Amino acid sequence: MTVQPGTVPAEVLEEEVVRYATRGQTAVITLNRPRYRNAQNSAVTYALDAAFLRAVSDDEVAVIVLAGEGEHFCAGHDIGTPGRDIDKSFDRKAVIWWDHVNKEGADSRYAREMEVYLGMCRRWRELPKPTIAMVQGACIAGGLMLAWVCDLIIASDDAFFADPVVRMGIPGVEYFAHPWVLGPRFAKEMLFTGDRFTAARAYELGMVSRVVPRAELAATAFALADKIAAMPRFGLALAKRAVNQCEDQMGLRNGMDSVFGLHHVAHAHNAETGADSLAGMDARSMKAAGGSGGSSPRASMKKASG
Ligand code: ZN
Repeated sequence: MTVQPGTVPAEVLEEEVVRYATRGQTAVITLNRPRYRNAQNSAVTYALDAAFLRAVSDDEVAVIVLAGEGEHFCAGHDIGTPGRDIDKSFDRKAVIWWDHVNKEGADSRYAREMEVYLGMCRRWRELPKPTIAMVQGACIAGGLMLAWVCDLIIASDDAFFADPVVRMGIPGVEYFAHPWVLGPRFAKEMLFTGDRFTAARAYELGMVSRVVPRAELAATAFALADKIAAMPRFGLALAKRAVNQCEDQMGLRNGMDSVFGLHHVAHAHNAETGADSLAGMDARSMKAAGGSGGSSPRASMKKASG
């Protein structure tokens, strides 16, 4: 179904922002806001969470594939589409904390970002079933977070990646896995420049598992999912946990916690000294500055949260 914002009720839009389907033993979870390059609003986050829970709860599902509808996997967090919903309350899932709505300043931002960004991403990284991100086109900022929480990343050869948020004075997106998935040297380069890097470069760095032509992307991801699905479920869950625990021993979890504080110093500094917590930038101005983030057909940046 093609959804035209403004022509259908909001609740219908929300039902459609993430699609769920099964293909054999594989659950296919698809971001479905192609008009906005699959920018993540909170509705997307909670729909993703529900879809992941459904896949984990279904004993017939062995592997989960995360995909993006349209030309791009995900252009980042929603920093300005008509469906931006940062002032809306949802039933919180990731952390026990108060609702961010009707709170002020850092109190609100910290609560919201712990829940919908850092907390959700960590929750999804820990899913007991193997996850494969199937990435084409843009995978920018918050889009990187979604790909990184997956166990494997299959990229088409036209995929490109970037975290340009240093342009906003912010030291990287909330799920700060950069040094672990890219190595410290390239993590600094991509943050310092904000530049895009290619799927081939991501493969060289070990960030993606395979690079294939766009036409072969889905077939490659599903074939890999089918192969993994033949392994015993509990063995897969333990193997995943084993690697994740070692990654945490390598500092990922603690590093991310400490950097989350720096991230919020940056948001607070922006809000204290300028127009808003994103240094007055939105998807359009980010793109004009040479970066690329979110999706914003109109520049409405009041009460921006990042
Ligand atoms: Zn943020």
